[in-house]
Amino acid sequence: MLPKDTYKHQGMRRKLLSEIMDKGITDERVLAAMMRIPRHFFFEKVFIEKAYEDKAFPIGEEQTISQPSTVALQTQLLQLQKNDRVLEIGTGSAYQAAVLASMGNRVISIERNRKLHKRAKHLINQFQFNKLTLLYGDGYEGAPAYAPFDKVIITAAPPSIPTKLIDQMKINGIMVLPFGNDAQQELLRITKISDQSFKQEVITKCMFVPMLKGTVD
Ligand code: SAH
Repeated sequence: MLPKDTYKHQGMRRKLLSEIMDKGITDERVLAAMMRIPRHFFFEKVFIEKAYEDKAFPIGEEQTISQPSTVALQTQLLQLQKNDRVLEIGTGSAYQAAVLASMGNRVISIERNRKLHKRAKHLINQFQFNKLTLLYGDGYEGAPAYAPFDKVIITAAPPSIPTKLIDQMKINGIMVLPFGNDAQQELLRITKISDQSFKQEVITKCMFVPMLKGTVD
């Protein structure tokens, strides 16, 4: 069962959102979605008070739930339009997927670690999202059965641009991803210009867990 979302949690969330706004997030729809989704639902009970700090936090399996301001920035950079079809790589806790789904988008999210996938699925079943699908698999392969996508968000850092995912995007589609290795990463926004070309913007430095090949059972 989901924990309660009390006035105290809502107050903490409002405070977190004002910190996020101070860090340059202006998209009202992103802020509203993050106000709607109780981030503490994605934490184990003993760590609930950590949910409203602007920090990444361990979720087991050596993975982390992304820092709230990073979730906000990646989501804002996607420039979501109503009914956009969105592919997420790296479900993790499913917090980012829940934020995207609550904005009314059709969301497909892939996780390579079966334990995390199962846990996320169990949690998400308790929300009333009818346009969110969680898949177990290797994100490098994308989700051809659900393509083409308007937007792609990657929440683990690949060492090279995953071209199969660009192939699964529509023309003018946008991908937001951390790019690089353990020592150095940059958050990139890629816009697909044609079937053969894309443009690339460097947004800021960042640090994510690596995007790894294959699956973990
Ligand atoms: N979006 C998540 C953040 C998760 S951290 C959240 O909101 O909590 C990144 C996740 O990417 C990890 O769970 C990791 O297992 C997953 N991951 C890494 N490489 C992957 C791949 N090739 N395909 C799918 N998931 C991958």
